[in-house]
Parts: sequence; C-alpha cells; structure tokens
Amino acid sequence: MGTVCTVTLFDKADSNTYNKIFNRIREMENLMSVNIETSDISRINAAAGISPVNVHEDVFKVIESAIHYAQISDGAFDPSVGPLVSLWGITGDNPRLPSRKEIEEALLLINWQDIEMNAQEKSVFLKNNGMALDLGGIAKGYAADEATLIIKNAGVKGAIIDLGGNIILHGEKKDRSPWRVGVQKPNTNRGEYIGILNISNRRNQSVVTSGVYERYFEKDGKKYHHLFDPSCGYPAENGLVSVTVITPVSMDADALSTAVFVSGYEKGRTLAESLPETEAVFVFDDSTVRVTAGVNFTLTDKSFILAD
Ligand code: ADP
Ligand code: MG
Repeated sequence: MGTVCTVTLFDKADSNTYNKIFNRIREMENLMSVNIETSDISRINAAAGISPVNVHEDVFKVIESAIHYAQISDGAFDPSVGPLVSLWGITGDNPRLPSRKEIEEALLLINWQDIEMNAQEKSVFLKNNGMALDLGGIAKGYAADEATLIIKNAGVKGAIIDLGGNIILHGEKKDRSPWRVGVQKPNTNRGEYIGILNISNRRNQSVVTSGVYERYFEKDGKKYHHLFDPSCGYPAENGLVSVTVITPVSMDADALSTAVFVSGYEKGRTLAESLPETEAVFVFDDSTVRVTAGVNFTLTDKSFILAD
C-alpha cells in the first residue's frame, strides 16, 4: 500500500493472529492496487472502453462505496481520478508539473458517473477509453476495517490498527482510559503533534487524516501535493493543510478525509456535519485549527490557535 502498516494487539498477541491480519491486508492490496498489474483495479482499467470486468466482492463493495462518496461530495471525491494521478505522478518516482493541455485532456476522462456497476454479475465497466480507477483515497480504510474483523473474531479486547496513519482503535486499553491520538503537526517529523484527540472507547473508532505535507513534490519553490481537485485538475488549494475525520468505520473516514479536504472548509464541514457519528478536525495554513462539535481536542502546540 505504499506505506508502513502497524498492528498492535494488547492481548492474545500470537503470531497466528498477526499472520491472518497481514495476509488479509496483503490480499486487499493485491486486489486494489493500481501498481499491481494483476489486481482487479488494473484489470478494470485495462478494459476501459472495451468490456466489463468481473471483480472480487471486496472490490465491488469498495467501488460502490467510493461512488457513494463521489455522489455526496458533489464529485470532490472521485475514484475515476486515475488519469490525473498518473499524469502528475506525485506518489511515484518521477513527479512532474503537466501542461495545461495535458490536464484538460485528463479531465475529460474523469467522471464517476461513467463507472458502470453490475451487481448481479459483480462486474465493473469504465465507459470510456483511457478512464482509470484509483482507490488510493479509500482502500486503506477498507483494509483496516477487514483487519479489525479478524481481530474481533479472534476475541482480542484491545488493539490499534495503523495503516500509514489510517487508524482504528479497537476495544480498550487495559486501564480502560480513553484513547489519545495526536494530530500531526504539518511539515515536521512524523510523531510531532499540535494537539491530542481524546477518543471514547465505548465503541470502535477510526481516525484518518488527509494532509498535504507528506506526499508532494516541489518545483520552482512551489509544492504540489497528491489530493486533486477533479473540477480543475490541480492539487486542491483552499487554505487547508490537513483534515482528520473520526467515524466508527474506517472506510468512511478514509473516503471522507479526502472528500472533505478537496471540498474545502465550508462545503467539507457541512458535508461532515450532515453525516451521523462523523467528526472532523481542520488544520489551516495560517496555523488555525477548527473542530466539529463532538470532537474532544486539546491543543498543546501554542504556535497554533483553536478558532470557532
Ligand atoms: P493518503 O493515502 O496519502 O493517506 P488519502 O486517503 O487522502 O491520503 O488519499 C490520497 C490518494 O487518493 C491519492 O494518492 C490518490 O491516489 C487519490 N486521490 C487524489 N485525489 C482524489 C480525489 N479527488 N478523489 C478520490 N481520490 C483521490
Ligand atoms: Mg482518504
């Protein structure tokens, strides 16, 4: 998944359980990565404009859910963003600033409404030649949920699943205190945080952040990050540096962190607030922080300001 995955089991931490968890995560990667030629997603993309492709149930579910988030975010989240992702290459070895013409051509291919789902056949068809799915904004969340299922079934009482910052807090710690999760300080080393989220352990919660400061490239002093605005084809520039979303299901938090980020603060906050059991933390490039009503957040870095 192009990231570090860490699973911490607080009890029943035997190697059999760990193996099951990581095998399941690897299985998800093999089905959904665009960097693996034999994945279902690569097969769908290769058949774009040609024919529907039968896919694994998991893949079908994740694409369906991605389309749902495209719908409710007015296309800010769009799983057909693949042509833009490969054009910019920001997460690869050779990122570059494309020409306006290239971006306009890629934009013609991006439209989640041209993804055709057949529930009976469990098949997916991209209507136009050159279209390409990219589940980078949602697949890690699903993989984290699947890992958690295994953990639950194994009877583990407390665990942290961390797939590259896509976090699930399962059950509770031995001392039963609430979970504490740091909100990453932008543009510093991983592990430095601006404040602490207190997360209730009454039920599983997932905490997922989309930020501009980890995957980007720099050209002529300007940073270009990996969260694209499908309405213009460029990285979304809206004053946000990160959005953290807290929900019970990690796939939802993952898709929403990307969707809310690309939507920008006002639309994004309205979207988050319209959904049940969904909270969000917004960090801005002027060092202000805003949180939705149900968030228990303690600011610890005094160079940031908690605003209304
Ligand atoms: P990360 O995976 O870096 O933790 P995200 O969950 O926000 O962060 O996902 C970013 C990835 O989502 C990008 O690398 C790209 O693959 C994909 N993506 C970029 N822009 C969009 C978008 N507007 N809608 C859906 N997916 C996107
Ligand atoms: Mg995401």
